[in-house]
Amino acid sequence: MQQIGHWIEGTEVNGGDRHAEVFNPATGEVQAHVALATSDDLDRAVTVAAAAQPDWAATNPQRRARVLMKFVDLLHRDMDKLAEALSREHGKTLPDAKGDVIRGLEVVEFCIGAPHHLKGEFTDSAGPGIDMYSMRQPLGVTAGITPFNFPAMIPMWMFAPAIACGNAFILKPSERDPSVPMMLAALLEEAGLPKGILQVVNGDKVAVDAILDHPVIQSVGFVGSTPIAAYIYERASANGKRAQCFGGAKNHMIVMPDADMDQAADALVGAGFGAAGERCMAISVAVPVGEETADRLIEKLVPRIEALKVGPYTAGDDVDFGPVVTAAAKTNIHRLIQTGIDQGAELVVDGRDFKMQGYEDGFFVGAHLFDRVTKDMDIYTTEIFGPVLSTVRAKTYEEALGLAMDHEYGNGTAIFTRDGDTARDFAKRVNVGMVGINLPIPVPLAYHTFGGWKKSMFGDLNQHGPDAFKFYTRTKTVTARWPSGIKEGGEFSIPVME
Ligand code: NAD
Repeated sequence: MQQIGHWIEGTEVNGGDRHAEVFNPATGEVQAHVALATSDDLDRAVTVAAAAQPDWAATNPQRRARVLMKFVDLLHRDMDKLAEALSREHGKTLPDAKGDVIRGLEVVEFCIGAPHHLKGEFTDSAGPGIDMYSMRQPLGVTAGITPFNFPAMIPMWMFAPAIACGNAFILKPSERDPSVPMMLAALLEEAGLPKGILQVVNGDKVAVDAILDHPVIQSVGFVGSTPIAAYIYERASANGKRAQCFGGAKNHMIVMPDADMDQAADALVGAGFGAAGERCMAISVAVPVGEETADRLIEKLVPRIEALKVGPYTAGDDVDFGPVVTAAAKTNIHRLIQTGIDQGAELVVDGRDFKMQGYEDGFFVGAHLFDRVTKDMDIYTTEIFGPVLSTVRAKTYEEALGLAMDHEYGNGTAIFTRDGDTARDFAKRVNVGMVGINLPIPVPLAYHTFGGWKKSMFGDLNQHGPDAFKFYTRTKTVTARWPSGIKEGGEFSIPVME
């Protein structure tokens, strides 16, 4: 059995007695054991990080960026290996696994611009003989806790800006798919990152709580489910740490009567069922406006959903989506589907009997489509995180907008229409962080920022883009006067510019 330890001080170290099983979701087999850190393991990583960080912070930002440049090359070199390891533990298809790596790599590329992003501001002659300037300095030892669904992208979204800014970073990845984060750490070492600047501490709540309580750790980034995001935000903040915590989602796609119905149906199928619906930006609720639109949309969706190909990543590019991550996730998705039926929704495409031939023990879930879902049903209020699309019929645009606005989550949303006025009104009024217009998954690119609103985000600064350089630095502002500007005698009232 493969044993996965921790990455500490530039090398893989064994864990202690506690471990978790890592499954191959396609076969249902346990393929590795991952170590679960104790608070002593975490403390060791922090001690190493704290010792290494000052030299890294003193390394000029261009040199730090060059390590990231080399890292990008190595990611390209090992792309197939990374994608295979990712698919084997997560279950997503190989092209989707490559996308996971590439969306992370793009943020690394953005962070190569650190020398520019870290430049401060300067005011010449802010007063008589006085200059004022600001600088962005690293926080010190920083940490991040990441979810299972993007084991390459989300760690890179955190550690690339953190280390580009001169911090040390401790990553606590998901215990479901820890191999890729360990591979990323090894590649950064190969790229020339000094030991101790990026470390991986595998684990569960014990490791997370040790991070939240450790006095040396200055900031915590979190991405995962909303209850844990809220918990981490509260505990990290109570301990005086800077925290940005991103939570779950229930993304609505509004389909207006004037939308191109084929385009809308294609978009819904990709965004609802890609990665088996295990994306925080998946569309899980379709909201057609008007009965006729709803009927036309359902008519287009049914054959598309029935034709979806489910399978293991090894089956090649023909597969649309793979298994869900664990047996427990599969059970929970089936439980929620049953609540939908019990509470009166119409199950238009029923994937409950889906069996993957030759992979009967895998965690496969067939595609499901519900119609006539209402606001009070569990399948509407809860994030299912599986291949289940719900349709809520709205009578008017205002009612559709209200649905997206009243939902407790506010990660992403989309509208499909040919009407510029409606699209503009929607983008302006909806209280959701990321909005797509005729585009179902509006994940901003690396140089913009990513973040939801409402219960999808706790904190203020978003991930990547310029916000990341703010989150991983603090501003120091210097007011300087040299002898020729100094007047004789003390000044006793607050200086103001007259
Ligand atoms: P999760 O909340 O179960 O786990 C996330 C991390 O928290 C893992 O590292 C895990 O070990 C840790 N954790 C779990 N339980 C904990 C506890 N009780 N105390 C302390 N730490 C704990 O999430 P997941 O199942 O890995 O990921 C799926 C969720 O992540 C979905 O809700 C999805 O919407 C969300 N997500 C959000 C975004 C975003 O940017 N908003 C992006 C990706 C995923």
